[in-house]
Amino acid sequence: MARALPQFVPSSTCFSCDVCCRFPEADSFLRPYFTQQEITDAIALGVPQSYFPDKSGSQIDLVEHVGGEGYLCPAFDAQSGRCGIYERRPLDCQLYPLALMWDQSGQDVLLGWDTKCPFMREAPSSSIRTYAEEVKKLLGSDAIIEQLVAHPRVIGRFQDDVIVLGKLSHLTTRLTQQRTDPRLRPLMASDAPTFAAALQCAHVLGADTPAAFAFPYHYMWTSVLSYWWMELNDTWFLFAKSPDGWFMPLPPLGPSSLDRAVEQAFRLMQQWNGSSPVSRIEHVMDVQKSSMSVEGIRFQPKDGDYLYSAAALASLVGDPYKSHRALCNRAAREHAIASEPYRASDQEGCLRLYRRWAAQKCHDNQDHVGKLLLEDAEQAHQFVFQKHDRMAVFGRVVSVNSEIVAYTFGYWLTPQTWCVLLEVADRSVPGLAQWVFRDTCRTALAQGAVSINAMDDAGLPGLRAAKLAYHPTTVLTTWIATRTTI
Ligand code: SF4
Repeated sequence: MARALPQFVPSSTCFSCDVCCRFPEADSFLRPYFTQQEITDAIALGVPQSYFPDKSGSQIDLVEHVGGEGYLCPAFDAQSGRCGIYERRPLDCQLYPLALMWDQSGQDVLLGWDTKCPFMREAPSSSIRTYAEEVKKLLGSDAIIEQLVAHPRVIGRFQDDVIVLGKLSHLTTRLTQQRTDPRLRPLMASDAPTFAAALQCAHVLGADTPAAFAFPYHYMWTSVLSYWWMELNDTWFLFAKSPDGWFMPLPPLGPSSLDRAVEQAFRLMQQWNGSSPVSRIEHVMDVQKSSMSVEGIRFQPKDGDYLYSAAALASLVGDPYKSHRALCNRAAREHAIASEPYRASDQEGCLRLYRRWAAQKCHDNQDHVGKLLLEDAEQAHQFVFQKHDRMAVFGRVVSVNSEIVAYTFGYWLTPQTWCVLLEVADRSVPGLAQWVFRDTCRTALAQGAVSINAMDDAGLPGLRAAKLAYHPTTVLTTWIATRTTI
C-alpha cells in the first residue's frame, strides 16, 4: 500500500471551499480515478459498488447534485462539505491540488498545481515548490511507481490551467516503456537477491571481476534510464533502454553456454532495435571474450576498472605516494575533519555539496555534454542517498565544522573487493579528495578488503592520470560486443 501524501491545503480551508469533489459534467475527465485496492477500500467504507464501472480500476461515476449545479463524487457529503472516505481517499485525491498529467506531446509525465484551487492561487510559490519536492520524492517510491504503472489512468491529460512544476522522469520511463516483450520485468530493489543468485550461478565473481557485476552499479541509474530483466532457460538477461534503443549493460548470467545466451540476447535486441548499431553487450570480461565464438560477433575495448591494493592506499607509504601523502597531511593540518557513516539526515547536506561540486566542475570548463552528464548524475546520486540501504550500498560523510564537505558510497563486489560507487569532495579544499579516498580505503581495509575497485575513467584524460597516479595493481580489460545483423 502506498504511503499517504502530506496535505498542503489546511482542512478548514477545504471545508469552506466549493471546488473539489464537484464537477460540471457527469462524464468530467477530472473525476477521481480509483485503483482496485482503492475501490475495495471505498466500498468497505460504504460507497456503493455500482459507482465503479470497472472494479479492477476506474474513474468513479458521479451523482447529480440535487438542488445544486453539476455533479458530485458519491463519496462527498455536500452538507458537511467533507469526503466520507477521507482517510482512505484515492491517490488521485490525495495529490490534489497537485496533479499528474502528460505533457502536450504525451511524452513526459508532469507534476503541476491546479490554478482552480483558490488556496494555491494565494500561496507563495516557494512553499508550493517545497511541498511539490516532498511529494515528488514520495511519488518516486517503488510502491507508488508500481501503483501508477499498474494504473496509468491516474495520470491525466494535459491541462493548460495546471502550472507545471517539473517532469517526473523516472515515472515517465517506467510508463512510456512499451512492454516490448511480456517477459521483460522492470529492475527493482526487490530484484537484488535474484541478481545475486544469477551472479553466483554464472561463476563470474572473482578478484578480476569488473564492478559492473553488481546490482547497485545498474540499479542507481534506473533514475535516469529504464532497466529491464528477463529469465530464459535458467539464464538472467539485463537490458537497458536508452533514447537510441536497447542494449545489455552486462553479459547474460547463466550456468551454461554463454554463446547460446549471447545469440539469444542479440536476436532479442535486433528484434527490438531493428538493424540499429545500438544493440550491444557491455562489460564482457576478457575471459568471456576468449571463449565466445558467436557468428558475426565483434569486440571493441571498453574503459577498464582500476584495481588497487587496499593496504597500499590505506597507508600511502613510500615515494610513489609522496604527493598524495602530502595532500592528505595538508587537509588534516588545515581542517578538523570528521568522517562518519552516512545517515538519512545527511541527505540535504550531501545534495547541497553535490550541487556545489558540480558548479565547481562546470567552472573548470565542462562542455555542454559534461553539464548534462552532471545533471543525470545528480539524479543518480540522490537515488543512492534515498535507497542506499535497499541496494546494500554503504556511505560515509566527511564534515568540517559540522558542514558536509565530502561523501563516499560503495559496495562489496566480493568479500575481498570494495567498489567505490560515488565519491564527491569539495574541490576548494586542498587535499580533501586524497584524504577522503584514503579514509575510504582505510575503512574498507579494516572491514576485510584486499582490493579497491575505483571504477573506470570514463575516457577522461584527467581522471585517467589521477587514477594511474595511485599505481593500480591492475586495469581490467573489458569489452563491448556487437554483432552484424544476421
Ligand atoms: S473521494 Fe473524497 S476527496 Fe476524492 S473526489 Fe470523492 S469526495 Fe472528494
